[in-house]
Amino acid sequence: MVMADPGETLDAVVVGGGAAGIGVAVALKDAGVEDFAVLDRSRVGASFEAWPAETRFITPSFPSNSIGMLDLNSVAIGVSPAYSIETEHPTGKQYAAHLRGLAKYFELPVREGTGVLRVTKVGDVFCVDTDDETLRAKHVVWATGEFQYPRTNGFAGSELCRHTATISRYDELEGDEFLVIGGGESGIDAAYYLASRGKGVTVLDKGQAWESRSSDPSLGPSTYSRMRMRQPFFREHVELVPYAAVEEVTAETAETDVGMPYVVLTDDGRRFGSDTRPIMAGGYAGGHRLVADLFERREDGYPLLSERDESTIVPGLFLCGPAVRHGGQVFCFIYKYRQRFAVVAKAISDSLGLEAARLELYRNWGMYLDDLSCCGQECVC
Ligand SMILES: Cc1cc2nc3c(=O)[nH]c(=O)nc-3n(C[C@H](O)[C@H](O)[C@H](O)COP(=O)(O)OP(=O)(O)OC[C@H]3O[C@@H](n4cnc5c(N)ncnc54)[C@H](O)[C@@H]3O)c2cc1C
Repeated sequence: MVMADPGETLDAVVVGGGAAGIGVAVALKDAGVEDFAVLDRSRVGASFEAWPAETRFITPSFPSNSIGMLDLNSVAIGVSPAYSIETEHPTGKQYAAHLRGLAKYFELPVREGTGVLRVTKVGDVFCVDTDDETLRAKHVVWATGEFQYPRTNGFAGSELCRHTATISRYDELEGDEFLVIGGGESGIDAAYYLASRGKGVTVLDKGQAWESRSSDPSLGPSTYSRMRMRQPFFREHVELVPYAAVEEVTAETAETDVGMPYVVLTDDGRRFGSDTRPIMAGGYAGGHRLVADLFERREDGYPLLSERDESTIVPGLFLCGPAVRHGGQVFCFIYKYRQRFAVVAKAISDSLGLEAARLELYRNWGMYLDDLSCCGQECVC
């Protein structure tokens, strides 16, 4: 491992070039921060690029910026994926290309192919160990997302299943009948695309996630998924089984994907057989686990953050993206966690004494700089 010139200490390092990393990098530039790097172990937008080919955004894009309402899928002011992609529900690949376009347009200091293995703080300086060197930085923004860190455990035999995050296309899966474990957005998404090709799908859920009536799409199915579940082919081919908490998956052999009997056992003793590998739609452990020791933990296991999304025990370390939690607020959509980009950028610019250089931050992001700008109330109608 090569140690960077000890004289060279970046003002900030952003780890991750996804929607969160690119968005916060634009805000950092607006806040007058120049000497920073965005590191990605793969390339900008890599997680979106790896979505199943059929999967589309559930949040619609609309070019509403001209009247001051940012496109739901936009990560920067003056930007609208609806305008650039000309699609209301982009695919992952389309959105990845959009993010790469933003990185270029805003001339972000991206270093691709640079995986971060470890972050430590020595005195006032962070040491960011990458695949081939150690970078020094005054601040670190951790934005590694969730998709590349799927939750693959949780019950015996889970290794026999395939996680939705490892499926490149639903139309390439062999077999006619599928079991999906988990009835949240990813499970319904998998069931929808399989059923659209006439496949039979049984979705098992420990509760009945598809029935949740919250107006917050982080807590229940999105409008897009509700619409998709009303399609005749979905009703015809998909069986939704509530209160079926999976306890164990067994198989005679895991050598082939199709033709072997898999058995899924639930905690109330029910058995569901399948000729194809069960599909696990059980969510994500999240990349924040890599730096878990640098944050206090909330009761729900997520990192405890200050009002500025900074670690409460390691000053200068910030969290950005879907793992951000404040009270009962879950920031797992772009239109939610982008509200925090300017807060983080302002905190770093404050720390660097750049007050005079951040007019753009106030001009572009002022609406997000007050408090948590969401009312935090559920809709009643
Ligand atoms: C199927 C699916 C559908 C979704 N639909 C929507 C939707 O409709 N609307 C919406 O708002 N959100 C949606 N989401 C959530 C959205 O994808 C995430 O909020 C978003 O990807 C999070 O962005 P991120 O930048 O935090 O993480 P990512 O997009 O995962 O980016 C993280 C980046 O960090 C890099 N990285 C990871 N680990 C390291 C490391 N150790 N060192 C260096 N680089 C690293 C990765 O290569 C990656 O490029 C969906 C998610 C899924 C899985």
